[in-house]
Amino acid sequence: NSFLELNLSRPLLRACESLGYVKPTPIQAACIPMALAGRDICGSAITGSGKTAAFALPTLERLLFRPKRIPAIRVLILTPTRELAVQVHSMIDKLSQFTDIRCCLIVGGLPMKVQETALRSMPDIVVATPGRMIDHLRNSISVGLDDLAVLILDEADRLLELGFNPEIHELVRFCPKRRQTMLFSATMTEEVDELVKLSLNQPVRLSA
Ligand code: AMP
Repeated sequence: NSFLELNLSRPLLRACESLGYVKPTPIQAACIPMALAGRDICGSAITGSGKTAAFALPTLERLLFRPKRIPAIRVLILTPTRELAVQVHSMIDKLSQFTDIRCCLIVGGLPMKVQETALRSMPDIVVATPGRMIDHLRNSISVGLDDLAVLILDEADRLLELGFNPEIHELVRFCPKRRQTMLFSATMTEEVDELVKLSLNQPVRLSA
């Protein structure tokens, strides 16, 4: 039960080591192999379970192993709040520190212009709150998700509690049909299950 058994490449193993991670948490041990196999994931996991690295590590691995032909946004991570977006962005920065993968943060309360420049530079990964991401996709012809490979919905129950259902539906329509989707939620309510049906394809269900 170690990170070495998870088929992650060297830069990611080095990052785990530098963060002091000795062995994967249960959700990581369950999620990483399934996500690396390309499966959609529906995970019930709370903050503190290590869920961020559980979705971030296989996603980074995919970016390292399937380099893009053209600069494009390849991964979109949606979170319910700015605070969570900041945390996820910072975690991804740390996990990708030995790679040239670029991650950008798109949240409300910061200038649109600066964010638009960041999006136009085609970061590999975008961590965003739904409302602000929609604003960019609606208003900019140069920002799109046509080459997206992975969509991640973090804290899905809170996304829905905060009323983001319409925004998520609209964002899913901006994504290509052929993609990998991972959804994490502390609770599995009926509404979350509807979202799973709408946005995931034969997901593996995991809980931690
Ligand atoms: P999360 O559940 O993603 O919010 O992570 C909670 C905390 O656990 C964060 O501070 C992570 O840095 C830490 N963490 C994640 N994975 C591991 C691991 N395998 N070993 C030790 N700590 C970890």
